[in-house]
Amino acid sequence: MSDYTISAIGHIESPYKQKFAIPRQPRLVPQAKAKLIFAPDFNREEFVRGLDEFTHIWLLFRFHETADKGYSAMVRPPRLGGNERKGVFATRATFRPNAIGMSAVKLEGIEYKNGQLSLLLAGIDLLDGTPIIDIKPYLPYSDSMPDASAGFADTRPETEMTVEFSPQAIEFINAQTQYPDLQDFIANVLKQDPRPAYKKQKEGEQSYGMTLYNFNIRWQVNDSHNVVTNIEKN
Ligand code: SAH
Repeated sequence: MSDYTISAIGHIESPYKQKFAIPRQPRLVPQAKAKLIFAPDFNREEFVRGLDEFTHIWLLFRFHETADKGYSAMVRPPRLGGNERKGVFATRATFRPNAIGMSAVKLEGIEYKNGQLSLLLAGIDLLDGTPIIDIKPYLPYSDSMPDASAGFADTRPETEMTVEFSPQAIEFINAQTQYPDLQDFIANVLKQDPRPAYKKQKEGEQSYGMTLYNFNIRWQVNDSHNVVTNIEKN
């Protein structure tokens, strides 16, 4: 086996501050906006010249938060309710040899501000601080295969989840102006039903928390109904 050294070309600034509640693939929550901040060695406009002609890009990145936990030959994909096992190479699991992830995301702009080059992205599924190891333009004529089949993950995960906001939550959202999409963003994250599979089988009301941007968000789930009970600054 050969060993290689890979260095990050940049990192992600993302609203997702913890793994819990990040959608399981990119583009499921289009309101998830992020910035890719280039590292000093790549902080030059030449590196991205021509990239603005593309609407979507591939990001290759390191699952840095879980990389030191190693990998297993078989994993339990959430799509199968967490009960059935598949070979790690038959899944998009994070616990994999080399801990490399890939996501096709929307490129909304290229910014060069105060001497810092960054890409403006949407629909991301990446944790804040994720190291990026490569970027490539998305090529529809080759990367999109509409007649492909995908076994246990053949269709976009559909959920029946509904989302309601408490008066306090609505008031908080309306009082801030920085994130105009905040309510839609929270609702779409919750519609993905971020709870682990074993929790979904439990009956009765349960309470959860997550941090998006610098907001602590609490919600309750009863069957397939979410109520955002409280939002506060953290
Ligand atoms: N689109 C990628 C990721 C799929 S796994 C791929 O197919 O390779 C998606 C999960 O990765 C998310 O639910 C999130 O919990 C996790 N994740 C995102 N960024 C991560 C990071 N930097 N380290 C560890 N896990 C991360």
